[in-house]
Amino acid sequence: MRAELLAKYSGRERRRIDDILHRASKIIASIVAEEGAKPIMEELTDIRDRIRCSRRMNRRLHSMPFRKIQFYISYKAMEYGFKPEFVDAKNTSRTCPICDEVSKPNRHAFRCIKCGFQADKHLVAAWNTATKLPMCRPLPLAAKALNEPLLLEVRGKG
Ligand SMILES: [Zn+2]
Repeated sequence: MRAELLAKYSGRERRRIDDILHRASKIIASIVAEEGAKPIMEELTDIRDRIRCSRRMNRRLHSMPFRKIQFYISYKAMEYGFKPEFVDAKNTSRTCPICDEVSKPNRHAFRCIKCGFQADKHLVAAWNTATKLPMCRPLPLAAKALNEPLLLEVRGKG
């Protein structure tokens, strides 16, 4: 299975994605170091169970980069002295961070059926993931973060 995955996901495309993952994880690790924040990431152990409805190809294309970027973020953050924590991400993109109601996101948009809170589902997932650790409190997010998509351009080498 692993050999098959590696073969499918090889060559030029793999190197291109790897380069993007390295640059993105370097940016994340530098934010971790600047802000003195603990990186909290989703446990991917049960990813196969959660996305078993998607096509096999989706799984091939998606599960590996997730693990890879977590690995890159982990070792780069640890170089700065910040050890990442991994949490169970069940329902993180479906739970309202304001009132805890579970709503189904519509594509990338999350809208709470109970309180009407709206945001990008990835932002909601990140917010909920961060607050899964007992020592973390809900983050005071700026209105800007909720209303505008965060565009982080990854360009150039290093
Ligand atoms: Zn709500």
